Amino acid sequence: MEIANNKIKFEDYMLHKDILQALHLLGLHSPTPVQCEVIPHVLQKHDVIAQAQTGSGKTASYAIPLCELVDWEENKPQVMILTPTRELAIQVQQEITDIGKLKRIKAPALYGKQSFKGQEKDLKQKSHMVVGTPGRVLDHLERGTLFTGHIGYLVIDEADEMFHMGFIEQVEEIMSYLPKDRVTLLFSATMPKEVVRLAEQYLNNPVHIKIQGEELSSRNIAHKFYSCDGMHTDERIALLQNILKVHNPDSCIIFANTRAEVEDIYDALWDDEFSCGRLHGGMEQWERTEVMRDFKKGLFRYLVATDVAARGIDVENISLVVNYELPGDRETYIHRIGRTGRAGQSGMAISMLERYEQSELKALEKLLEQTIEELTLPDEAVLLEAEEAFRAKMNEEPEEKGNRNAALKAQIMKLQIDDGKKAKIRPVDLVGTICAIPGLEAKDIGVIQILDWTSTVEILNGKGQIVLDALQTKPIKAKVRKVRIAKEK
Ligand code: AMP
Repeated sequence: MEIANNKIKFEDYMLHKDILQALHLLGLHSPTPVQCEVIPHVLQKHDVIAQAQTGSGKTASYAIPLCELVDWEENKPQVMILTPTRELAIQVQQEITDIGKLKRIKAPALYGKQSFKGQEKDLKQKSHMVVGTPGRVLDHLERGTLFTGHIGYLVIDEADEMFHMGFIEQVEEIMSYLPKDRVTLLFSATMPKEVVRLAEQYLNNPVHIKIQGEELSSRNIAHKFYSCDGMHTDERIALLQNILKVHNPDSCIIFANTRAEVEDIYDALWDDEFSCGRLHGGMEQWERTEVMRDFKKGLFRYLVATDVAARGIDVENISLVVNYELPGDRETYIHRIGRTGRAGQSGMAISMLERYEQSELKALEKLLEQTIEELTLPDEAVLLEAEEAFRAKMNEEPEEKGNRNAALKAQIMKLQIDDGKKAKIRPVDLVGTICAIPGLEAKDIGVIQILDWTSTVEILNGKGQIVLDALQTKPIKAKVRKVRIAKEK
């Protein structure tokens, strides 16, 4: 992660202490170049069009000022963020929830293949920001379950990908539901003419920001290939297994072009006791979410995926990306390999190539400004030696990753109360009871959620245990309730 070297600190933006404290606990101290450029403009409510890659810190560049600007008292959404994929919507929601945790920002995610009703219920509660994919957001708008009257900020994230996935019309339709008097922020890794047209049509006198950022060509990624000329699927998968064993990475993504191939590769790796998971668009959303979460946590080492995992997804320390076959276009190659060599670390990208793909190879070399070296196929002796190290690694527990928000989480305990709306519990009942506990104040209470039969409340500032103990005997709305630590989803 490139940090601006002009010594700007987040404190310099005069942000609220709840936001600064959350950034501090998340280990974010100095803004990155895109954040230096974007944050002041958003705070001044200017429209912005920013060309920045994922990995530049662009999510926080809008999440930080927007968390600052939302009015906590307002119950209806004030910010809408549109992302092209569900995985990205979840990731953005997570980042907003972390940055806005101590301000108690609520940001439901709205994406497809997930219960509409559940989202509708979320939207009936306090929702400061909504993050979603265009299709489902439009669904909510058409069915009248998402009130837009107070939306003062719209973020279109990964606009070029929105265009590639054919979502631009939906984005335009969504905009027709939003107040005209709003701030619009558009982020895009590249600026195809459709994105420029969108910006010209809908943004109001925008500030143009272009972050060169770390060029992929300057990143520490070694590009290699293996020839698999004329191989049948079985041979090709067997070669893939051998390649993986020889390189024996701690954490790796294997990209294939179709769901069926992902399934075949995954089955073969699973049978050979690789520590692996898989991700493609044909899976149920809850499975996709779980797989991505577990991979980010480092619970398994190999993710076999289609390009749903190529864009914007931020997983720490991926040391190897393998193209089981080349993607249909060069831009996708760049996005795939952009999953490795992040945050100043080194990485390797390996492609499996047919001879007829040599011309594509040359084009990629030109684009990357480096040669893509051919590796020799591993022989029996190499494989035998690799097998031992590989088995040893598969038997090791992978190192846990993604503890970025551990310090923030340590300050917070989420309690679950086994009663909710049906018992006529309202937020004010919880606040009243908790504030009556010695040493507790309103600022120690985080996000409250009241469902039909259960409620949850976050206790901040490390005071969770005090509240948990007290509520074992203290009545909430005239009755002692069952209270326990909420299970993490
Ligand atoms: P993005 O470009 O939004 O995909 O962000 C890439 C990664 O950079 C995420 O894991 C962020 O948590 C991390 N990040 C964002 N801002 C900063 C910062 N100011 N300092 C260090 N890391 C950051």
